[in-house]
Amino acid sequence: MILVLIGPPGSGKGTQAKILAATRKFPQLSTGDMLRTAIAQGSELGLQAKKLMDQGALVPDSVVIGLIGQRTLESDCKVGFILDGFPRNVSQAQALDQMLKTQGREVDRAVFFEIPDEDLVKRLSGRRTCVECSAMYHVENAKPQKDGLCDQCGSSLRQRDDDKSEVVRKRLQVYHEQTAPVVGFYERQSKLKTLDAAESAIQVSKVLTDILG
Ligand code: AMP
Repeated sequence: MILVLIGPPGSGKGTQAKILAATRKFPQLSTGDMLRTAIAQGSELGLQAKKLMDQGALVPDSVVIGLIGQRTLESDCKVGFILDGFPRNVSQAQALDQMLKTQGREVDRAVFFEIPDEDLVKRLSGRRTCVECSAMYHVENAKPQKDGLCDQCGSSLRQRDDDKSEVVRKRLQVYHEQTAPVVGFYERQSKLKTLDAAESAIQVSKVLTDILG
């Protein structure tokens, strides 16, 4: 199955993609994680992406389309994959369709994580991410067992630079202007399902399981 998760930053797509990847054995393809890896490696691509990411802007389509194009050809993606954070605008959605067509495949389902902006600001400002394995925590709602340390791998937790409040506002603006139209793109292809992402992660996971069958 090729599944696209669409939603604003902080809507829980990443958390649900990780759960699905573990339970259904599909790889999670997160362009945000790929870009953060490039930054950590200090590559030229990472350096250029970091400037835009720190401002809450999107990196150029050619960069993320290239990353996804390469990744989807790897052998673990043969069974399918979960796209988390891509496509982020209609041009990327069109490029994805084209790319999959050349591979003789297509997107099976797109799920829209619907949630009001007020909830997102609260979620993102309290979010902490493991520097090593990208596991996510929240200072109030999902505390790690040991303060500042990842339950899964013991590495330290930090706040992403782009989860700081001024950048969050910009990311939400970019989401509404550029990513929200992707919902209509999949609706027109009759591939879209919408869920209430303001619910708890456990409840969202149940709804997602029902949607995917
Ligand atoms: P995320 O981890 O998905 O919230 O992404 C973090 C940042 O990476 C975004 O704010 C963008 O700057 C960049 N990014 C991730 N995915 C994409 C994409 N598909 N297109 C453009 N920029 C992206």
